Amino acid sequence: MMDKGEYEELLEKAYTELPAIVKETTRFVTPKINAMIQGKLTVVQNLGEVSKLVNREPDLLAKFLLKELGTSGSIDGQHLTLKGQFRPTQIQEKFEAFLGQYVLCSECGRPDTKIMKEERFTFLKCEACGSRHPISALKMPQAKEGGAKVEIGEEITVEITRTGKKGDGMARMDKYIVFVSGAREGQKVRAKVKNVQGTMIFADATEILKK
Ligand SMILES: [Zn+2]
Repeated sequence: MMDKGEYEELLEKAYTELPAIVKETTRFVTPKINAMIQGKLTVVQNLGEVSKLVNREPDLLAKFLLKELGTSGSIDGQHLTLKGQFRPTQIQEKFEAFLGQYVLCSECGRPDTKIMKEERFTFLKCEACGSRHPISALKMPQAKEGGAKVEIGEEITVEITRTGKKGDGMARMDKYIVFVSGAREGQKVRAKVKNVQGTMIFADATEILKK
């Protein structure tokens, strides 16, 4: 029979050996996005917190969410305000897609990764298993001067300075070239944006302001 002293000694030994093992096998727990619809906007209230938990810049996560949800928005400290109404589950889904692409290693599934840039390429490098995978770099949404984005359906005012090959009026607006159908050189028009491609805007004239 073991005496009381021996038993306690064994127990103590077991305890001191246990914690390290338990700690190492802790699984990655997907953080939960906390979002609330406020009128015509949706506020992600814990953008800063979840970014920190997955060790990524809030800005990168914000860009991904805006792109995937097809909307515009702004970061204000911990919060991300999105234009439009989005259900929390919808945002959570996109957040999990972000984890799959920009955080979790596709070899071993661990979140211990770093984003690395080499020349024109961006990689996700895993510090747990050493594997490396290319990822697509996220670009900022197209912005005109002042930071606002030109959106389809938006009305703009431009002065037509040239005539395009197809007879459309052409104008410059910030960094954009605007093609306006139904407008001629020399006119100042209001036009409705029907398409935006890179730095080109295609619009239909809705009102001639100056002939
Ligand atoms: Zn890995």
